[in-house]
Amino acid sequence: MVETVINELIRDVPDFPKPGIVFKDITPILANPEAMSKIYDALAAPYREAGITKVIGIESRGFIFGTPLADRLGVGFVPIRKPGKLPWKKVSVSYALEYGEDTLEPHVDSVGPEDKVVIVDDLLATGGTLAAACELVKGLGTTIVGCSVVIELGFLEGRAKLDGVEIHSLVSY
Ligand code: AMP
Repeated sequence: MVETVINELIRDVPDFPKPGIVFKDITPILANPEAMSKIYDALAAPYREAGITKVIGIESRGFIFGTPLADRLGVGFVPIRKPGKLPWKKVSVSYALEYGEDTLEPHVDSVGPEDKVVIVDDLLATGGTLAAACELVKGLGTTIVGCSVVIELGFLEGRAKLDGVEIHSLVSY
């Protein structure tokens, strides 16, 4: 079972990057090829027959899981990046973090009304990051079939910020 594999490998790091946060360190998972292969298969499973045209990954850990998912689904990959990283014309949205603010940007021509996409990140916490990504993608006229994460911190109720969007997580705490 993919949940068991993730539970066995994930490393909880208390008080990182600041006091009170328990950081879910995925590096032991990344180092394990059998675990990663199971994760890619599990991420792809809900979308095999969904007519997905592109997978969108959120910088940076969404890239790790998004590109192999795109490969599994036989479609292209689109990065949504932190500000100032992409070279071409962009759209951007700023959103609240626990402390402060962050911004995300895709290229303006990366997806359009003809696309049906999955948005991928490693972890769903308060939901601010995925909600911002959804806002950008919807703003480009694109259909969001679902959002997928490997880990969901269910106690933070991030799903509430993503009303109406199908969310798939492989483990929830
Ligand atoms: P949020 O916008 O609150 O849902 O936060 C999600 C983003 O922050 C993801 O890109 C995660 O990589 C990162 N993140 C938030 N909380 C944690 C945590 N406890 N452990 C690891 N990454 C986290």
